[in-house]
Amino acid sequence: MPKYVFEFTEGGKDEKDLLGGKGANLAEMTRLGLPVPPGFTVTTEACRRYLVDGAVPPELRVQVTRALRALEDRIGRQLGDPEDPLLVSVRSGAKFSMPGMMETVLNVGLNDASVHGLTQISGDARFARDSYRRLIAMFGRTVLDIEGALFADAMDDLKKDRGITDDVDLTADDLDELIDSYKKIVQEQTGRPFPQHPREQLDLAMKAVFDSWNTERARLYRRRERIPNDLGTAVNVCTMVFGNLGGDSGTGVCFTRDPASGKQGHYGDYLPNAQGEDVVAGIRNTLTLDDMAERDPASARQLFGVMRRLETHYRDLCDIEFTVERGKLWMLQTRVGKRTAGAAFRIAAQLVDEQLITLDEALTRVTGEQLARLMFPQFDPAAEKKLLAKGLAASPGAAVGAAVFDSAVAVKRHAAGESVVLVRRETNPDDLEGMIAANGVLTSRGGKTSHAAVVARGMGRTCVCGAEAIDVDVRTRTARVGDVVINEGDVIAIDGTTGEVFLGDVPVVTSPVVDYLEHGLDATLAGADGGGNGAGLDEETADLVRAVDTILTHADAARRLRVRANADTADDAARARRLGAQGIGLCRTEHMFLGDRRVLIERLVLADSAEVRDAALEALVPLQRGDFVELFEAMDGLPVTVRLLDPPLHEFLPDRTELAVKVAVARERGEDTAHDDKLLAAVERLHESNPMLGLRGVRLGLTIPGLFAMQVRAAAEAAADRITAGGNPQVEIMVPLVGSVMELHLIRDQADTVLAEVAAQRGVRLDIPIGTMIELPRAALTAGRIAEAADFFSFGTNDLTQTAWGFSRDDVEAAFFAHYLDVGVFTVSPFETLDAIGVGRLVRIATEEGRAARPGLKIGVCGEHGGDPESVHFFHDVGLDYVSCSPFRVPVTRLEAGRAAIAEDDTAEGLAGPR
Ligand code: ADP
Ligand code: MG
Ligand code: MG
Repeated sequence: MPKYVFEFTEGGKDEKDLLGGKGANLAEMTRLGLPVPPGFTVTTEACRRYLVDGAVPPELRVQVTRALRALEDRIGRQLGDPEDPLLVSVRSGAKFSMPGMMETVLNVGLNDASVHGLTQISGDARFARDSYRRLIAMFGRTVLDIEGALFADAMDDLKKDRGITDDVDLTADDLDELIDSYKKIVQEQTGRPFPQHPREQLDLAMKAVFDSWNTERARLYRRRERIPNDLGTAVNVCTMVFGNLGGDSGTGVCFTRDPASGKQGHYGDYLPNAQGEDVVAGIRNTLTLDDMAERDPASARQLFGVMRRLETHYRDLCDIEFTVERGKLWMLQTRVGKRTAGAAFRIAAQLVDEQLITLDEALTRVTGEQLARLMFPQFDPAAEKKLLAKGLAASPGAAVGAAVFDSAVAVKRHAAGESVVLVRRETNPDDLEGMIAANGVLTSRGGKTSHAAVVARGMGRTCVCGAEAIDVDVRTRTARVGDVVINEGDVIAIDGTTGEVFLGDVPVVTSPVVDYLEHGLDATLAGADGGGNGAGLDEETADLVRAVDTILTHADAARRLRVRANADTADDAARARRLGAQGIGLCRTEHMFLGDRRVLIERLVLADSAEVRDAALEALVPLQRGDFVELFEAMDGLPVTVRLLDPPLHEFLPDRTELAVKVAVARERGEDTAHDDKLLAAVERLHESNPMLGLRGVRLGLTIPGLFAMQVRAAAEAAADRITAGGNPQVEIMVPLVGSVMELHLIRDQADTVLAEVAAQRGVRLDIPIGTMIELPRAALTAGRIAEAADFFSFGTNDLTQTAWGFSRDDVEAAFFAHYLDVGVFTVSPFETLDAIGVGRLVRIATEEGRAARPGLKIGVCGEHGGDPESVHFFHDVGLDYVSCSPFRVPVTRLEAGRAAIAEDDTAEGLAGPR
């Protein structure tokens, strides 16, 4: 019989699969001897059984009964006992933290009888009633699916009637009245009275937690975070402790370091005389931990001790929920805390300095995505801004957009291509879609641990919260600050790094991390290029830049993959080089045929004799040579892979329809159309139904005599020029779209001849390897043969994905990708992250067979996958020599290549799965 129930004393933090994150960590804290109220965890396995069978497994009932009895014996009280009740909370907790799943039900076990028992043992009638009315409302909302507003309205009506504004001012008698209204709501909405039997309450609540796994918003969250749908959630049943027993009680949330900036020191929100979600909901304004230490130094001292203990034990930033009951501290939850990108780098570097972790571990604590986020532009400090209000800096970034006041409008405007900022008093899980659609989130209530802040940080959205000066009115869709009114659609700007809110658009500038990446640590710390204000960086920013430097330097030392950039021009190449590129993995030569040079292509296409054709090609040589010289100079000493012309020729000719119209009109006017007629005939001849699969790449090179030879000559002469000028060009020539080794042999013969000619003419030694792209399944499957003629391989993963799947990106992305993602055919677009099991298999085959035929064959990747973190890990595992990505992604890829090397022994942390 499977064991479905574990007491908190039985597990540990590594059992998240079975106990969920919350359960595993409650067990860990129990094991550490920290004050955790006793309880037990129902496993995710039980949930999975329930979801499959549609019914609670019978063994579970028995095991819960046994665990409950053990708990009752231990505490010496019985669940819902009328004299001296044991009360419990029922809490969901999946393997990965999922804000937006079921809310916790507190005070389970209270009923019309035990509420009197609670009054007796607490000596506080008001408290007992308050707990009971909370149970009915929470249970009603989350277990019985009753609209929460009904309870909130009943409370508001009562307060209005009594002429008070604060919940705390309701008397015990008021609360009795409220309990009656709540019970009436339950009866009306469900046709049944509020369940009085404690065990029935417990069972229904547990079942509701199981069911919450499949709610719409839970599914949405999982899709975004790539959490598998079949994990299920655990349920934690935990003895209640009470933070609402007066002034010497309270509840709070804290972090062992600042999760927004990474700054060292305690950080948190405390609410005296409160229970449960009061802190996170942002209903009342919270105190800081320093305030708490003043009010209740003994509890604060206990708390700080526990925080230190947890941080040393987990060797990471911990996120903690606690409650103080009449001066006694209780730990209700801990986990490794979510943090912003900047905080991730700073904390990792701090922990290295504190000797809690190694540099290798530090590298596993940050991601390329986080580094990418730090490279986003920021608001220009020098720009004129109209400051509206200041809130808390909850999640960094600079967001500008139209103010919207609800999730639906955010989604609609975003879909129409508009940038929006979601403005709310506070957010709740129903706002998730709007938060995803928005550039930034602004709330007027709530601390840095409020729902808005936590969720925004988790998904990398800019967020300012608790901007109290802003009065948000969702009904009229306006916000007011003094006499300024913001209507829906008005542009506002929020700075998640400072907490500032501005009216109107604000220009943005380069981030200091980019300054560092381009100009180095010293120059950036001195502020020479930083921030545009000429002064040195402030201490916080300097610390961040230093942390990025420490970790990225270590990644460079650790990684095995080299990182190149895709760059077609000298400017791009220079920038890529500054950002750490070790060469160019893909220089497309297409642009060398555009602009004024288009006429030469026309001449080439229209040529009716070899002389005319050769003349057209001859005219292109000096132009292309000039381009190459600049590029080779920018990348002097580093490899530059020149890809011969790939796209079909008609891309360089006029549009077919436009040309046809032009000819028709000219003819109508009686003008001479001889040239255009010829051109139109050529355009029609070259027209293709499926250009992606047509006359392009090597096929073009073999069909148009002299075309590739001309490109090779231009590159070779440029290399000779550079050598003569004392440079060190490292040119590589790459043939696109090869499917058969014969194609490569034919091009190679031509190229070798040209290279020998140029070397002889110029009196230089030219060492120019000739390789091929592997971007067709046939090329991958015959890689052993192709390797005979190739000095290197470079995977063109974009075309390889298109041809392996048999779809063209341009046609399918808009047509059905969204649907495929929805229904789960894709968890991510195969153009974003390499399809490791399909396309990746071709990559593996080609690598193995290519290297078997030609030991030591140099193999790389060019194309967007080279800049995608998950794909980089795959390429590392396959054993490629380098990846090439867009210049701006180079630092991200350097970091990920380092992480891949570290993760090598730790394969569990491999591909696909939540980040
Ligand atoms: P979440 O997953 O949303 O964090 P929790 O299960 O942690 O939900 O519960 C939310 C809050 O409810 C806790 O932070 C705590 O304040 C309160 N809570 C949960 N269990 C108990 C308990 N046994 N006693 C007192 N308060 C509790
Ligand atoms: Mg919690
Ligand atoms: Mg290609």
